[in-house]
Amino acid sequence: MSNESNIYGIFEEVNSNLFEFLRSTKNNSIPLLVASGGTTSRAAADNHWILDLRKNYQNLSFDFEKKHVEIEAGVTMGDLSNFLSKHQRSFPIGLSGKTGMGYILTGGISPLSRSTGLAIDQILEIEGFWGNGTKFHLFRPNKGQVSKSEWKAMCGAAIFLGIVTKVKVKTQPLRTLLSWTANISFSQLSECISQAEIWPNSLSLQWIWGENMFAHAIGEIVNDDQEKKITSLLEKLPFSSNRIIKKVKNMNSLPNLNLGEKVNLTNHSEVLSLLGPAWKENNLHVLKIIQNLINKRPNNSCYIASQQLGGLTKSNYIDSSFQHRDAIWKPWINGSWPANDKAGREKSLKWMEECWNNLEFICPGVHLAQIHPHLPWHQKELSLAFKDWLTNLKEIKAIYDPDNIMPKLE
Ligand SMILES: Cc1cc2nc3c(=O)[nH]c(=O)nc-3n(C[C@H](O)[C@H](O)[C@H](O)COP(=O)(O)OP(=O)(O)OC[C@H]3O[C@@H](n4cnc5c(N)ncnc54)[C@H](O)[C@@H]3O)c2cc1C
Repeated sequence: MSNESNIYGIFEEVNSNLFEFLRSTKNNSIPLLVASGGTTSRAAADNHWILDLRKNYQNLSFDFEKKHVEIEAGVTMGDLSNFLSKHQRSFPIGLSGKTGMGYILTGGISPLSRSTGLAIDQILEIEGFWGNGTKFHLFRPNKGQVSKSEWKAMCGAAIFLGIVTKVKVKTQPLRTLLSWTANISFSQLSECISQAEIWPNSLSLQWIWGENMFAHAIGEIVNDDQEKKITSLLEKLPFSSNRIIKKVKNMNSLPNLNLGEKVNLTNHSEVLSLLGPAWKENNLHVLKIIQNLINKRPNNSCYIASQQLGGLTKSNYIDSSFQHRDAIWKPWINGSWPANDKAGREKSLKWMEECWNNLEFICPGVHLAQIHPHLPWHQKELSLAFKDWLTNLKEIKAIYDPDNIMPKLE
């Protein structure tokens, strides 16, 4: 969460006082932001009220019989992973343990999603308050039952409709992970991507490209035979230097996906996440486009990275607001600039748009892991994330959040 100095004030409880207050400030736009993990630019900003759930929504409760876990909205994914490890269970968290409920609510693409599905696919119950202040408690439909629109909306578009205070999710058995990390070159990245596109679901590839290139493959060990198979696949991956193959006990213990440079904490950034199919014969063409974009990035901290979907993100899911079930790659564009550098910000945002325009042919979808209601491209990202389902979402919002307490859907 950035250290904005001109916020109006902070709320730490969701109750009737909060909604009365919001109603009393009724005007065209009620400037409320919600922070769960607090990792995005929309968790705090100047001239906004902040609802910070991190202090008072910290409970985790495990059902020993059903192996389900209830998670309150202030819990980070790292804390969830550590808590579940004690019960020999796991949850498909993303690449950082610092994210919070925002990770689950925006879909949640994990390095393990190819074998477990998205984070939203694990949700069994979801509780909170609609933007109009009424409470909700929704349950996953049984197999064969048609999903209610409200359920479908909350699985992937909840952040536009209400404040989520708690979810109940399924968990998975805790399994040892195999991690392969290495510095790679342009041609090696191309080869890694080609190999990954034919991998079994138990392996996934992520990579990052800025000043240099770094890749991280992650596999889940199910039994000895399968461990041998995924180890031999990892050994086939090309690399330039620093290749490390090691076993780790849970997602929290994995190395970070970064370029090894010192993170400049005074930098500000925006992130735009795209979604698209396997690159197949377009592989080299796409990488040359990215190379050109990387060469002209306006700031050393700008980069493009990607993670892999497929497998169970494509099938075996419940009806949700995540429209890009056929996606295989999620490249994300990180635009960064020094704090208070307005011209630098403009340049980085322009570069992000250029990246988007250049990659749209191969990544036609958007993953709204980060939302940008404060930027001119908000409408475009909504349309590309929700496609035709956006019309239904707007109808649901008109009923449950008519005053746009939550971020707008237009
Ligand atoms: C280092 C890093 C690694 C990441 N890796 C992955 C990854 O592997 N896979 C992936 O899918 N994503 C990944 N992300 C993206 C991340 O999951 C999303 O940006 C997510 O929204 C961040 O969660 P948060 O709890 O920190 O959100 P916050 O910054 O706290 O909130 C973001 C926005 O979400 C909404 N929101 C948050 N909590 C609630 C709530 N309880 N009720 C209603 N609305 C709410 C609000 O609109 C808020 O403005 C990563 C992000 C980072 C910073």
